[in-house]
Amino acid sequence: MNEQDILAVQSLLATPKKIAIIPHRNPDGDAMGSTLGLYYFLLKNNHFPVVVSPNQFPDFLAWMPGSENVQIFEKDKKNSTKILEEADLVFTLDFNALHRVGEMENVLNSLKAPFVMIDHHQSPDDYAAVTFSDVAYGSTCEMVYHFINALGKKSQIDKTIGTCIYTGILTDSGSFRFPKTTGTTHRIIADLIDLGVENSEIPTLLFDNSSFDRLQLLGRALQNMKIFPEHKTTYTTLTQKELDQFNYIKGDTEGVVNYGLSIQGIVFTAIFIENAEEKIIKISLRSQGDFDVNLFAREYFDGGGHRNAAGGKSEVSMEETVQKFEDLVRKLKI
Ligand code: 5GP
Ligand code: MN
Repeated sequence: MNEQDILAVQSLLATPKKIAIIPHRNPDGDAMGSTLGLYYFLLKNNHFPVVVSPNQFPDFLAWMPGSENVQIFEKDKKNSTKILEEADLVFTLDFNALHRVGEMENVLNSLKAPFVMIDHHQSPDDYAAVTFSDVAYGSTCEMVYHFINALGKKSQIDKTIGTCIYTGILTDSGSFRFPKTTGTTHRIIADLIDLGVENSEIPTLLFDNSSFDRLQLLGRALQNMKIFPEHKTTYTTLTQKELDQFNYIKGDTEGVVNYGLSIQGIVFTAIFIENAEEKIIKISLRSQGDFDVNLFAREYFDGGGHRNAAGGKSEVSMEETVQKFEDLVRKLKI
């Protein structure tokens, strides 16, 4: 965050403003944590912020402070559009290309208000008046902490803001395991714990609130897994029929993709999840080390993300999608 950008944001925030804060579609812990953390920070500074999420957030994030005030575009397009159109300022968090908000993209494109982007994905688009974009950070939540600090307002970070920030750092770092977790990350976490953030309770709320159906669905995904040892790759699938069989609710497949990397020697994995309503196969990709799944997702599956965690989609059948993936994997030199 350079001096010029900080000054620009300070000037944008100098008087009370109506501010829309936007996470990406299908918001995860980092998207929700960063938007809600920023929401409470802006409230404290006499602004009028509203978090407008493109669609519903998963149930396992419903305990988060402020989640009850999140405006869901897909549920109430009229009112959401009004909020967006009336905003003096728009923050987009945890994404860097407007198509990541789905249908809401048209509304965002029509707005006159300046945008501020805070994000840690590769290759940011050029839509924001101020762009804080840095792939060195493991989470947007960690960037929000630095952002508040850079504005000279670190002392305003309280237990509530801290809880939001903690959540995204925790989820995007794989519980502090992924390589972008630094000493600074841990020092921020230490600060947050000192503020009273419930560091033991939050992982329980996030990860241990499973249902029997969800575990059975995980079991099915594990049984469907295929392995290509010579290509250090695994993948698995869940069809709409299987999701229905286990009474799938949003969030139930969160984290399932990671099991594919937990086998010794495997450095690339994927999960293909059918979404009959949207007529797509949603794809999540994960890798360990140098293999760049962001490039893979961009090139073959209309997606993107980070080097070690990316996603995309396919509009052909599950069989054809998986066939394409297998053909690609057989050519891979990992
Ligand atoms: P996940 O697999 O957890 O849905 O996503 C992993 C990462 O890839 C996230 O950082 C997410 O932002 C990114 N990602 C997931 N799906 C897509 C997609 O369809 N397009 C792009 N550009 N990025 C995606
Ligand atoms: Mn993130």
